[in-house]
Amino acid sequence: MNRLIYSYDTYASIFFPPGRLADGGTCEFATPLCLQECYERPNAWEVRTYDYMVSHAPGTVSATLLADMEALDVDLLFWFDAGDCPHKHTGHILAIMRLIARAGVVQIGFTRNVELWRSTQAITNTRMVLTCEKGASRPKGAGVIAVPDYQQCAVSLYQEGELAACGGSVMSICANSFTEDADGVYENDCEACRQNRRGCFVGWQPTTLKKELPA
Ligand code: SF4
Repeated sequence: MNRLIYSYDTYASIFFPPGRLADGGTCEFATPLCLQECYERPNAWEVRTYDYMVSHAPGTVSATLLADMEALDVDLLFWFDAGDCPHKHTGHILAIMRLIARAGVVQIGFTRNVELWRSTQAITNTRMVLTCEKGASRPKGAGVIAVPDYQQCAVSLYQEGELAACGGSVMSICANSFTEDADGVYENDCEACRQNRRGCFVGWQPTTLKKELPA
């Protein structure tokens, strides 16, 4: 079994096959616009990763992910660098995320699966972002929302609670090569965002955990 994760310098990413379910992808909640704009196609590694993760018990998958991350010396995991979590696997992926969190890993990422997004709000040190098209209705309540700008290859990140309460404002912009917030423009780096509480991590308060191995 090859590694389940792709390693950037300071964090690791999970790639699932992108695209419609009918085409072998995992983007069940894709919109016509994002499908039109997306240039990614499923590759064999993504398919193998996905098949492994949904066909093995959460404890087995989390142990494999943790071993991969330990070998790469990273403790930040990004979900769905490509693809997404289909509805039928929501509970399974959440179970993996909970086990990963118990081992002290910080998790972020982008999804269009509202049920997954809502449920991750209760997982320790996890901040998933819900992607919604510009102008589309958005779920109310706590959590971070990403609105894509396909022309700029960027997303604007909003705290949905503020948006609901006061009309809201962009808390940060993440693009291919930079992250921007009220204090400046920075090289795009998820670990730097974590360290400096910017990007997806604006207002984030980490919880100190005694690391446990998954059951
Ligand atoms: S805003 Fe920062 S943490 Fe979020 S995806 Fe962009 S680089 Fe990563």
